[in-house]
Amino acid sequence: MHSHSQYEQKDAAGKRANPSSRFRTFLISESTWQKMIGHCKREFPLEACGLLSGKNGIAKTVWPMENINRSPVSFSMDLEQIRRVFELIDKRDECLIGIYHSHPTGKAYPSAGDIAYNNYPEVGHLIVSLASKTPVVKCFEMKGKKVTSLFIQLVG
Ligand SMILES: [Zn+2]
Repeated sequence: MHSHSQYEQKDAAGKRANPSSRFRTFLISESTWQKMIGHCKREFPLEACGLLSGKNGIAKTVWPMENINRSPVSFSMDLEQIRRVFELIDKRDECLIGIYHSHPTGKAYPSAGDIAYNNYPEVGHLIVSLASKTPVVKCFEMKGKKVTSLFIQLVG
């Protein structure tokens, strides 16, 4: 299987010290990707948020969640809704792979609040920026205050 990360490793063989060979890759199916972006656009100008589940490390199911803050600059999920969705994820024999939310007018990078209130250090965090005409999506791993970029790879 060829992936972005292998491609980047070849780059890293060059003279410039390139830390990207250490980047991990977030795998997501094309249709899940489209649904996630569609959800974010529908909620505009408010922030949208949701969960991504799947198998074998590939995000295949999108779970649009309610942003109980109903805010253009922050999001927060309802704990009861999270519990119900986790049950449904279990029933599908899937596991939580990622979390997404939108930045209606901000860039695709975690805000101070995203980092401070992150309850899921073990999954990828996708941020969908709707600040320009074409949505920009980036993926991060957030452990404590450490933010690491992940590559995103769309799979069939
Ligand atoms: Zn955010």
